[in-house]
Amino acid sequence: MNNVTLNDEQVEYNLEKDTLSIPLPKELEPGEGARVHFDYEFTLPEGGLRFTKSNDNYHLAQFYPMVATYRSNQWNKKDYRFRGETYHTGFSDFKVSYEIPEGYTIVSTGEDDEYPSKTDGTFDVNDVKEVFIAILKEPMVIQKQEGDVNIRVFGFEDKEDFYSEISDVAAGALHYFQEIIGPYPFKQLDIVLDGLGMEYPGIVTANSIYESGPVNPEVLKYIVVHELAHQWFYGIISNDPYNDAWLDEGFANFVTGLYNLTSNDQEIPYESMEEQLGSLESIPVNLPLDQYDRHMSSYIYSKSSIMLFKIFENRGGIEEAENYLKVYYDNYKYKEVDTQEFVRFTKKYFSLTDDFFFKEWLLLE
Ligand SMILES: [Zn+2]
Repeated sequence: MNNVTLNDEQVEYNLEKDTLSIPLPKELEPGEGARVHFDYEFTLPEGGLRFTKSNDNYHLAQFYPMVATYRSNQWNKKDYRFRGETYHTGFSDFKVSYEIPEGYTIVSTGEDDEYPSKTDGTFDVNDVKEVFIAILKEPMVIQKQEGDVNIRVFGFEDKEDFYSEISDVAAGALHYFQEIIGPYPFKQLDIVLDGLGMEYPGIVTANSIYESGPVNPEVLKYIVVHELAHQWFYGIISNDPYNDAWLDEGFANFVTGLYNLTSNDQEIPYESMEEQLGSLESIPVNLPLDQYDRHMSSYIYSKSSIMLFKIFENRGGIEEAENYLKVYYDNYKYKEVDTQEFVRFTKKYFSLTDDFFFKEWLLLE
């Protein structure tokens, strides 16, 4: 960190691990702002988590000072972890200028990226929780148009047919999600087949999962649809990914399941879901990340999505689920949901009078 200024005056700052704090000379009143300028340099680690050099590519995730959310009179930021998200940001507007070396192309949250990109440029993007940029070395690119959205798949092996299949899967899912949830907010959707499966606004990465190398083609397709689903559940309907991770992960798996069922003309497999539930403990799905052991994803991803499916058992099935999602989206787009609010909404939606159904899988206040 070379220099930090506050309202154009140089100030002292404190950088401890991943927390940068700048003491203010006087308290900010509600609605008041401060202008902070950071001048800094960094080197990307190899084998980093999302913020990483990967093969010949550079993944710029969380590479700029992000303002944490502030609640209950404190900054809502947890200690860094090597799994899950420990930061939670609000919706913001960004203006980005870049210069990159020859031979690379930039792929980003911005919706006007060209391929191959120029070596310098700018983009603006509004109402996003963060900005992600990938700087890629000689990718193979497949483009496909779905309605107003240009889908671009970036691969790094000689697998043109497979990348084309990925673009078909993405187009199908994008079409379905827009129909049952709400419009995708950008004209470009980028899928980078490198790195850990992860969602960012307007761009996703997918190639591997935690503690595993590259996944097989069928799993990769599932991950692409899951990360795409996050464009709504994280990208548009926000939630705290540390204290309520189940809300975006559970909903992403739930709608991925709905997409796979409807596109194969299948019913919801409640029997096998019961079996899966039977193998899990009675741990709630909405605990903060540090309260789970290594089986975290069984609860945050799996049990939560099964319980979302169970809401619609004897309550209208797939058709009602699709209608529910639309109403949920209309109520919470560009807002934040937490567990309490989800329960309040769902009880109202079905005119439920008690918390009986939810107490089985959610820890309620
Ligand atoms: Zn996810």
